[in-house]
This record gives sequence, C-alpha cells and structure tokens, in this order.
Amino acid sequence: TPTARLDKLLANLGYASRREIQLLARNGHIRLDGAPIPRADTRIALTPDLESRLVVDGEALDPLPGVALMVNKPLGVTCSHKEAGPLVYDLLPARWRRRDPAISTVGRLDKETSGLLLMTDDGALLHRIISPKRHVAKRYRAHLARPLTGAETALFASGTLMLEGEDKPLAPAVLEILGPQDAILKVYEGRYHQVRRMFAAAGNHVETLHRESIGGLTLPSDLEPGAIRRLGEADLAAIF
Ligand code: URA
Repeated sequence: TPTARLDKLLANLGYASRREIQLLARNGHIRLDGAPIPRADTRIALTPDLESRLVVDGEALDPLPGVALMVNKPLGVTCSHKEAGPLVYDLLPARWRRRDPAISTVGRLDKETSGLLLMTDDGALLHRIISPKRHVAKRYRAHLARPLTGAETALFASGTLMLEGEDKPLAPAVLEILGPQDAILKVYEGRYHQVRRMFAAAGNHVETLHRESIGGLTLPSDLEPGAIRRLGEADLAAIF
C-alpha cells in the first residue's frame, strides 16, 4: 500500500496549505479511527477505506486520487476555460477544484450540448475512454432542424465521410432514426463538434443534442442537470 505524509495528502486534496494543515493537526481537528493525529508529518497508508477512517474537521475525507465522476451537464455550461460562461468545474465542491492531480473532463461536450459527462483525475482511465482504438461508443440523441431523408444511415456507416478541414475519414457510426426529425447517433471517436458536423455534412442542422451514454454507462434518470455522482466499480466496468 502506498503511503503519504498527512500534510501533503490533504494539501493535494485541496484542503489547505501544508502550514494550515499543521495547525489543524496540532489542534486535534484531524482524526484517524477516532484518535487525533497531532503531527502533520505522520505517514498515512492510502488504503481505500481511509475515506471513512480519516476525519478532517468532523467531515469524512474526500475521495482519494483515482476518483471518477459523472455529471449531468446542463445546457449553457462550458467544458473549456477558453470559453465564456459558467464552467462544469464550478459544479464541483470548491475543494475538489484545488486538487493535485486535478480533476478534468473526459473529452468535452459543447456548451449547448447536455447529458452524460465524465470527470476524473486518472489519466490512464481518461485515455481508455476517449481513445478511438478502444471503441467505446458515445451515444447521442439529436433533434434536427429538417426531416431526415434516410440516406444519413448509410453515409454515417460508410467509414468514408470526410468532415470539412480534416484529412482522415470518420470511422463508421450507427444512426437509429426515431422520428422525422429525431435520431440516436452512436460514434466511436470524439472529434471537434463531431455530431453537429456530421449532420451538417448530410445537409441538416442539429437543434438540440444530448449525450445519453458512454459505452454501457447510461445517464441515470434521477441525476438532475448539474448534479454530480461518483462512479462505482460497476459503473466503470459498464463503460468498457
Ligand atoms: N458532438 C458534437 O457536435 N457536440 C458535442 O458536444 C458532442 C459531440
């Protein structure tokens, strides 16, 4: 089991500076299994159950590094610091935004796309989900400005569709037509504005876009827009 110094562990989880953590410890505000740890340089074993055993200021410890979250991203919220508007990161508790390693989004959704967005501080997990080689399906529900012709299904499945300004054709994608102007599109890569640009290439225009699932992980119906939930082992297994 890896270990970490208490002050470094808590500083990296965004609690406070190492100096402030020293004071918290000295004043008896940090407890392990109920007993105060007065010294901030104490080495702590990073076992998974630490989250329930280590108590800071009366509160159970935040998730240890290696956390994965799902968010029901609301419309109008951006995944990029370069864009104007509220950020998905603002949906996290303040302390979670100060973590090192930082929690970042697994790919991005457009400001005007809603639905399932994953966040993690685990670079390997992030790569496994977004790598086109892994073939993880991203399932989108789209409402179109104009009626579908039916020709889109073959076009998207062809593996030859080229988006403007790109030099590599899109991998085959699966379209399921639900109604005259409604469809589900499953894609296996994550190119910039991919779904919107695919429908634009088919002469249509996406009016609303919502991500319903990533692999076998579907946005839970009880996760309200803006709400965040931690992924459990079963959720992670469902993705792949
Ligand atoms: N494709 C898009 O065009 N936008 C998204 O947000 C996701 C996929």
